[in-house]
Amino acid sequence: MLESGKHDGTPTTASGQLKERLIEALRAAVPACQLLTSDESLAPYETDALPVYRQLPLVVALPVDASQVQGVLRVCRRLGVPVVPRGGGTSLSGGATPMPNSLVLSLARLNQIINIDPLARTATVQPGVRNIRISEAAAPFDLCYAPDPSSQIACTIGGNVAENAGGLHCLKYGLTVHNIQRVRALSMDGEMLEFGSLAPDMPGLDLLALLIGSEGMFAVVTEITVRLIPKPAMARLVLASFDDVETAGDAVAAIIGEGIIPAGLEMMDKAAIAAVESFVHAGYDLEAAAILLCEADGNREEVAEEVARICTVLQQHDVRDVRVSANEAERLKWWSGRKNALPAAGRLAPDYFCMDGSIPRRAIGKLLKRIQGMEDVYGLQCLNVFHAGDGNLHPLILFDGNDPEQFHRAEDFGADILERCVELGGTITGEHGVGIEKLDSMCVQFTPAERDTFLAIKRAFDPAGLLNADKGIPTHARCAEYGHMHVSGGRLPFPGIERF
Ligand SMILES: Cc1cc2nc3c(=O)[nH]c(=O)nc-3n(C[C@H](O)[C@H](O)[C@H](O)COP(=O)(O)OP(=O)(O)OC[C@H]3O[C@@H](n4cnc5c(N)ncnc54)[C@H](O)[C@@H]3O)c2cc1C
Repeated sequence: MLESGKHDGTPTTASGQLKERLIEALRAAVPACQLLTSDESLAPYETDALPVYRQLPLVVALPVDASQVQGVLRVCRRLGVPVVPRGGGTSLSGGATPMPNSLVLSLARLNQIINIDPLARTATVQPGVRNIRISEAAAPFDLCYAPDPSSQIACTIGGNVAENAGGLHCLKYGLTVHNIQRVRALSMDGEMLEFGSLAPDMPGLDLLALLIGSEGMFAVVTEITVRLIPKPAMARLVLASFDDVETAGDAVAAIIGEGIIPAGLEMMDKAAIAAVESFVHAGYDLEAAAILLCEADGNREEVAEEVARICTVLQQHDVRDVRVSANEAERLKWWSGRKNALPAAGRLAPDYFCMDGSIPRRAIGKLLKRIQGMEDVYGLQCLNVFHAGDGNLHPLILFDGNDPEQFHRAEDFGADILERCVELGGTITGEHGVGIEKLDSMCVQFTPAERDTFLAIKRAFDPAGLLNADKGIPTHARCAEYGHMHVSGGRLPFPGIERF
């Protein structure tokens, strides 16, 4: 396993002294029982859902309200200690992994639902509330919170805001950014900021959209007002199988091209089907090269009409087999396969990378074929699950992180997939963020001038560069080392930077 920095958890004299000063100063901000300081108690926080990167923090702080969060931030600002905000720790890009000599600021104890307003159709909650709890609390009003990441039983709404999380139903109902009305957050200096408003519109620049997806690098979110939608009266799921991945990809493009916006449109390839079938027995076609899961929701008539239209498009695209869920139990059983794809991959190898890129929908089949070829090049197996309607792919690369050579091959395989995404007109991240994992891929996607702009925005929020420092935006030196500086007019930018 790799350290994300040079610090190995054993305090050097300098970091040991810093830790002592930090603990001493933090006692004025939070009670001692809300500080974790021993190596044993820090260990659960050394990584997130990307466990190939690990780093013990100096301290974990567990504040219970915004004023304690403010106190912790002010201490860290004064002592120059980097802060890593953390919700449920389910980040797949290393976003919540500590940096060397940092403090982990856990928001997990700010977990109150402050109010549900059924007339305004909003819920105001603290950042540590788990995603699924919002819909559970809104259910008595026949309302729900639409963005539903597969990790929704564990991830927090604060983490969802930081990552602009997506989910199975985001094709129709939008990502986190489309479902948030107002956010309160603390700057690294401890200043309370407000983004958005309770009114449908707000004055000034849309800084709310800028904050959402900023990966804990701009401010620490302490309160969120989310939009709620009426719970659909019913839903039915169409399960279709195909003999060829490209045909399945074409069917996805055709469904959207027909003007249908399904509530969910997911795709899995043969290897992913086999992995989930042996795990949750969802009832998928094991002979198929790919399956599509396509959901229609609404009232009875709307659902019946949409299902019929979806089936017509599928028949026109050489579908091998098509079934429509007969009841709610069957619908949930079919979804259980897709929702358990990551744990199913976890049973097949000691480690897996869940990659996250986006491509135009029409390129899905083409990219899947390329990935199949890469499996031979890198000598590693890859399962593929897609939020196909969004063109968001999640190749799951299996490897053994105990073997450094295999780990590096897996990293190269992942980076190669993301470069192909850029080549096809897509992006290096769909919904999991950049974190530590995709820093090098940022060098491929963005020019030095664009990265400079990102850094300037970061500095406007966090001039000292202490909030989730060294994540999300690579330095020019890092990109030079990676060897992917953009060449314009035959001239490399920043010629003064040493090349490796
Ligand atoms: C099995 C599995 C399935 C997943 N499925 C999906 C999916 O379908 N869609 C999807 O989008 N993601 C998915 N994810 C990724 C992950 O769940 C999301 O990125 C989620 O939004 C992270 O939330 P969290 O509370 O766990 O945040 P953490 O992992 O704790 O942190 C994530 C980032 O948010 C920052 N952060 C956390 N809280 C705050 C705060 N209060 N203020 C400021 N910054 C903060 C952290 O610093 C970090 O950069 C999945 C992960 C797993 C393990």
